[in-house]
Amino acid sequence: MRGDSAEAERWTRALDLVRGRNIEADAETGPLFDNPPPDSDPEVLTRLRQMYEAGGWVLVESAVADLPADLRWLFESDAVTIEQLGTIHRALGVTSAADLAAAVREHKVRGLPGLDAAAETAIGAALPTLRARIPPISLGRAVSIAETMLEAIRAVPGVVWAMPVGSLRRGQDMVGDIEILAPTDEPAAVIDAILRLPASSHMLHRSERRLYVVADRVQIGIRLPEPAHAGADLLYLTGSSAHFEALRARAAAGGLTLSSDGLRASDGTVTRAATEADIYTALGLPLIPPEIRNGDEEVELASRGALPTFVARGDIRGDLHMHTVWSDGRDSTAAMVEGCRALGYEYMAITDHSPHSRAARNLTIDGVKQQAEEIAGLREQYPDITILHGCEVDILPNGRLDFTDQVLEEFDIVLASLHERAGHAPEQLMKRYASAMRHPLVTLITHPTNRILPSRRGYDLDYDRLFAQAVDTGTLVEIDGAPSHLDLDGALARRAIAAGLTVSINSDCHRAEMLGRQMDLGVVTARRGWVEPRHVLNTRSVADVRSVIAAKRGPR
Ligand SMILES: [Zn+2]
Ligand SMILES: [Zn+2]
Repeated sequence: MRGDSAEAERWTRALDLVRGRNIEADAETGPLFDNPPPDSDPEVLTRLRQMYEAGGWVLVESAVADLPADLRWLFESDAVTIEQLGTIHRALGVTSAADLAAAVREHKVRGLPGLDAAAETAIGAALPTLRARIPPISLGRAVSIAETMLEAIRAVPGVVWAMPVGSLRRGQDMVGDIEILAPTDEPAAVIDAILRLPASSHMLHRSERRLYVVADRVQIGIRLPEPAHAGADLLYLTGSSAHFEALRARAAAGGLTLSSDGLRASDGTVTRAATEADIYTALGLPLIPPEIRNGDEEVELASRGALPTFVARGDIRGDLHMHTVWSDGRDSTAAMVEGCRALGYEYMAITDHSPHSRAARNLTIDGVKQQAEEIAGLREQYPDITILHGCEVDILPNGRLDFTDQVLEEFDIVLASLHERAGHAPEQLMKRYASAMRHPLVTLITHPTNRILPSRRGYDLDYDRLFAQAVDTGTLVEIDGAPSHLDLDGALARRAIAAGLTVSINSDCHRAEMLGRQMDLGVVTARRGWVEPRHVLNTRSVADVRSVIAAKRGPR
């Protein structure tokens, strides 16, 4: 580690060890880890092996060269050598593709030892490749990776708080960088704690208040500012840059200067920096929720006091979409009930897949009856929560539903889903949706775009038309919190409520332990869509939920 000579010496030896060797199979000496050189340091070897397993050979080499993981892809190109990259990193503090792009744009690279204008141009040209090689990761994965790190940091004495920043804090469905901010007067204690975590391979210790590690093949940046300054850092690093620009313009209009250092008066003194709320207050604004900091209209609306209160996790009174071992869930119905009770819900719906769904296991018609009996037993056992017996029925290629009406009538709630495109063009998909929504027993359309993050795009439909049809038929749409769905996303959810729709925010959970996390993700996504409690079915009582279902079913 930099700043520690014994550690530095170790890394120099590690560099000698791996340079020019193929870790997997060296022709002359055999694989490195199986046949280490006799004088090699066992601790260094263990660390190298961990890194190799976490991120492959490039990760080992960049670690040994003391480079941040997000730059490692660049030295695979011919544009730059690992030594040049090390020079840029150390001289300019460049740690990410974005930093490097800025340095190239501002011509800070030329003139560094061993780097001329031609080298700078070549790096600039290779940058798009670098960016393409650092794919964004899904919000769900980012949250779970950051969580371990956040827990470890929060447990260190002296840490005031620890929070993710950037696109992760804004709840964007694909996250660019994982960065964590944790104000403290004792940064060394935090760094020690992080380096002791089994999950983190040490990548870079750039300064006493910044650290980069790799966990689960993803780079995590940790910044440890002085507490007096942390609000300014939090605001600046959360972004978005468009939101920050809008705040900066507002500050300038009032004779103030807003920068990453905080808010300055005209005489240059920093007036506000300790908390985000301080800075917003000084700008005459309420604290604007991170999820809507997009720089479109939120600052202007907030300045007029016209920003609504968005739905929060505490508003959620039940979860209406989850799976059990009766279809492709991992846990029993009882385990899901226990999980929902632990979250304090008043009600829940068990909604397994219908027979023709492509899920790994499906509910059969016999299964429906047996499940109903099981649920009747659980209702007696757990009188403190209302258990609705529902299903997530497939919308078949002909637009019909995958259970007969006689079967569907027995359910307390029917969710309908278009899981399978069946080769259909958008117009045919719209017809299938329309026919399902006209069905009086269908209360809710689940994950309407049917995208799979990060790989599969959603259906390319005229969603405003779909939402209008949903309003006409009295059908609700879902904001699905499963990490692979987050569907509707924020932008579509905003259009849905603008069309007058009620949404339901559900976990679509397949494992009891994830019920809370997936509901969180659903709520964050809804907040990105400016959704208020009044727009959400499951902020209401179970009696209200039942009457929404009954209203569409009509007199029976
Ligand atoms: Zn589904
Ligand atoms: Zn589902």
